[in-house]
Amino acid sequence: MGKFVLGLIAAVVFGIATGAGLPLLSRTALPVIFQDEQGLKEVPPLFLAVIEWLFGGDQQRLVLASCLFIPFVFLLRGVGGYLSAYWMTEVGTRAIESFRKEIFDRLLSHPMSFFGKRASGDILSRVIADTGSLQSTVTQTGGDIIKQPIVLISTLATLVVVAIQKEGVFFALVGGITIPILVFPIRALGKKLKKRGADLQAKVGEMTGMASEVIQNPLEVRAYNLEERFSGIFGNLARDWRRFQLKLVRYTKFLSPLVEVVAAIGFAFSLYLGAKKDMSFEDFMLVATALFLAYDPVKRLGNLYGILEQAKASMARVKVILDAEDSLPEPENPKLPPAAKGEVEFRDVRFSYGDEEVLTGVNARIESGQTVALVGESGGGKTTFANMIPRFYEVSSGSVIIDGVDVRDYSKRELRNRIALVPQMPVLFRGTIYENILMGRPDASEEEVHEAARKAFASEFIEKQEQGYQTMVSERGGSLSGGQRQRIAIARAFLKDAPILIMDEATSALDAESEARVQEAVSHLAKGRTTIFITHRPSTMEQADRVLEFNKGLVTERSSNG
Ligand code: ADP
Ligand code: MG
Repeated sequence: MGKFVLGLIAAVVFGIATGAGLPLLSRTALPVIFQDEQGLKEVPPLFLAVIEWLFGGDQQRLVLASCLFIPFVFLLRGVGGYLSAYWMTEVGTRAIESFRKEIFDRLLSHPMSFFGKRASGDILSRVIADTGSLQSTVTQTGGDIIKQPIVLISTLATLVVVAIQKEGVFFALVGGITIPILVFPIRALGKKLKKRGADLQAKVGEMTGMASEVIQNPLEVRAYNLEERFSGIFGNLARDWRRFQLKLVRYTKFLSPLVEVVAAIGFAFSLYLGAKKDMSFEDFMLVATALFLAYDPVKRLGNLYGILEQAKASMARVKVILDAEDSLPEPENPKLPPAAKGEVEFRDVRFSYGDEEVLTGVNARIESGQTVALVGESGGGKTTFANMIPRFYEVSSGSVIIDGVDVRDYSKRELRNRIALVPQMPVLFRGTIYENILMGRPDASEEEVHEAARKAFASEFIEKQEQGYQTMVSERGGSLSGGQRQRIAIARAFLKDAPILIMDEATSALDAESEARVQEAVSHLAKGRTTIFITHRPSTMEQADRVLEFNKGLVTERSSNG
């Protein structure tokens, strides 16, 4: 706020120095310098008084002082302009910074369904490219947005004041009349720019989406010889992008010559009228400077308007992320969390991702400490069932109850603290193996991290890596095999040490021997906590207390050998 006020003051200094100081040079410094009889009569006495007071009455000194007055006006203008641009941009970029942070935080809180509906590249481009274009809008406009209107106002005010004092200058205002006419083409251009800006940003989104698909799936692209296909699509997008960009330039670059031609017409008209009235050279200078100075802000403001209209298009794209409705709201009054025992109950749960119902009235009760295997055909709804427990999705009807409380009555944080989940396709974050395991419970000690890795049967291969636990991995696992990645994810879940452990085909990528050993670790771990396995392996099923079979969205208890 302080910077904003300072920027405003600097802008006023700039505006007055430019709009009044420069045109009035011909009424102040110039007549003194040239000792022009006629002109000297019109020099404001205040100006003379001040320079006499500062520099003494000697004529030579007065001329020198008047000469120095010229750079002094430019100095005021320069310093004011610079500081105003800097401070205003600072205020603007700070606003963008917090806006960007807000968008990212919103993204973190969005429900899973938000990501299911959109291409990740498109979301990425909204978060990075669109906020980037907002930021460059601020840096492009921050300098002018306050300064230029002040220049315009002070220039016009100067013209009016002079015109009132001296009848001969009234025509100056005639030239000024062309200024408001310029508003119409500028508005029309702005509308075009908004539309084109939107097209352009949408193309950026498509390109980012497409590029990120290719980057994320290098293997598939090569295995199916998709290079040409993607190269073609990308080529088309790049061409469209260029075309949209060119269209933008077509409109933006039109503005400047338009304003100049209109300005020249106004100027010529003023001169013509002035010539008929025997205008003095000083007055001519004053009018010329003032008119020139009045058109410049109009031109700049026109440009600015165009840039802002384009920014609106980016803003609209960002708003999609900001305004996406939270389909999983936090409860207004979260229930006091009950003691964590690990009971899970589904009561008549129905759920659909879209049109088709995936869970069609599921009833199941899993007691604290039980180990339950979920089996059944692929697409039967096992993963969906598991996803309802941490409330990744909201039930359409019925309820999911953990330790006697509906999941909708937990704060999400509290609920998810109770659940350790190893998903079907575990993902590692960019960082070291150690950091990836530690994410399970950030306050765990090094010893605990190693212990979890040992139990997940991961320590062996981790220690074989050149840098051991400090080996860097990336989202796709880097140099790790699918089974190794899975074991790191299992170690992470083990470390979390939550009352409910869900493993979604979490050992599918392991060879028989490692699987048996991980399984053994899990069965140790399963003691005293509720464990839900999704599995195809008969050996896993044997370890379970119960087996739930999924078939077309319904769950039936299959007798287990216990
Ligand atoms: P399972 O894990 O038993 O193989 P899922 O629970 O993954 O089965 O899937 C059950 C059904 O829900 C399938 O028909 C699948 O096409 C659909 N489905 C799964 N995930 C999504 C999703 N994110 N969006 C839309 N449909 C989904
Ligand atoms: Mg599944």
